[in-house]
Amino acid sequence: MKPVKGKQNFPCLKIMQSEKVNNARRAMRWGLTCDKGQCQEKIKKNGKEITEICQFKPTIKQVKENQQEEHSCHYYLQKYEALVSKHSLWNYHAYFQIMKFNKKLFEDYLDRKVSIFDEAHKIEDQIIQFVGFDIFSGQIEECNLSTERYDFSDLDSMIKLADDIAYSYAKKIKDIKESSAYQKNPDYELITKLERRYDRVAQGKIDILANKDNFVVNEPTRDNNGNFRAVSLKPIDVSEFSNLFFNTEFQMFMSATIDHKSFCENMGFEEDEVAFIDTPKSPFPVENRSIEFLNVKRLSYNSSESDEIEVIHTIDRILSEHSQERGLILTSSISRCHKILRYLSPNNAKRVRICHSTNKDGKTQDEIIDEHSKDPTGVLLSSSLWEGVDLKDDLSRFQIIAKAPYPNYTEKRIKAKMKKFPLWYNSQTLTKILQGFGRSIRSENDWAKTYVLDSAVNNVFFMAQPMIPKAYYDVLGIENL
Ligand code: SF4
Repeated sequence: MKPVKGKQNFPCLKIMQSEKVNNARRAMRWGLTCDKGQCQEKIKKNGKEITEICQFKPTIKQVKENQQEEHSCHYYLQKYEALVSKHSLWNYHAYFQIMKFNKKLFEDYLDRKVSIFDEAHKIEDQIIQFVGFDIFSGQIEECNLSTERYDFSDLDSMIKLADDIAYSYAKKIKDIKESSAYQKNPDYELITKLERRYDRVAQGKIDILANKDNFVVNEPTRDNNGNFRAVSLKPIDVSEFSNLFFNTEFQMFMSATIDHKSFCENMGFEEDEVAFIDTPKSPFPVENRSIEFLNVKRLSYNSSESDEIEVIHTIDRILSEHSQERGLILTSSISRCHKILRYLSPNNAKRVRICHSTNKDGKTQDEIIDEHSKDPTGVLLSSSLWEGVDLKDDLSRFQIIAKAPYPNYTEKRIKAKMKKFPLWYNSQTLTKILQGFGRSIRSENDWAKTYVLDSAVNNVFFMAQPMIPKAYYDVLGIENL
């Protein structure tokens, strides 16, 4: 299979040439990667503005006929090789990008019979990145607009804001192009950047106007002084966009944690057009995946302080029982992570590393996991490692589910989605818990013990019982009827 990797994985030959760097490894080390390359630029030739394509960029026809230049851009080579090959492997972002924006351009290569989508429980999150838009305070300032003139709880007011931003970028682009400074010494990078911002906001507005009732304005995020930082406009129902992304004759969606009914409902598929294969048994032995439900307390937004502390004391006790092993603690928010750390005994607190995609000290998730791997009794504490992390073998021999990970219903989109799709809220929570169970058992011979502390998890299993995949029946003690 020909894989497609993102631009940040390849050195940009054009930047290397301009910076006089001739060693690809060094270019990577210095961050001279393809995501920073200007693959096409507007330049002036003989008094006319033309678009100049980077000399290293191959055409898809060249790649198909194996006629590319010796020094061709590595990023485009692998992307075009994937498009012209019989089988290819894409990340969601790159694939959706093509399906949404470049389908026409590559239509000769997209005529496939079968497509397979892995980690299908995360498709909705991927789709929302491509529909609707976010508005940041920097954009509003850049366009000389004032946040006071808009109502950040009203969709029409946000559409007006999007309009004003688009108008302002269009005017900026026109003024810059007409200025004498630009005529003498054009800044193409700036123009390309402004054009990209204009396109994003204009395209987002088109999506929203196609069906206004399907969009909500989330509560804006603000800084510590209450100043506006960002607002996002997102679709409630993603099913109306699934035709855009899923259109091969046969499609296969894979996940250890989806169920037939809520998946079809969410994606807008007819249930009887979708065959569902529920693997009857996990390939990993049950004794390697044991789960202990301790039901310490039922935690919620309004839990009493004493209940919270009792759960943390139980975490402390489990850490002491596993004093010679690495482990993982999963909870529902960053503030809960800090609270847990505050109340642990000093000996156990020393072992714990809070780990998210971005961290206070500027460390990345990978850097923290790397430190953890070198600490023989290290423990990761997180509200985001429920999915997408492999803590195989000794990297984690015990894991603690401290709090049920309900979606944040104070977010307007979540509230609206719950109202429209009652199954969705439980299925989201269930998926996250089941994904969490799998973080530390990554192969047949791997093993880890799981402790569930929050008794609200029982309620999730009760409400969502028909959605639980059969492979979990053994560890959950559910009779296979
Ligand atoms: S085509 Fe490749 S080498 Fe050229 S600017 Fe773009 S990323 Fe860089």
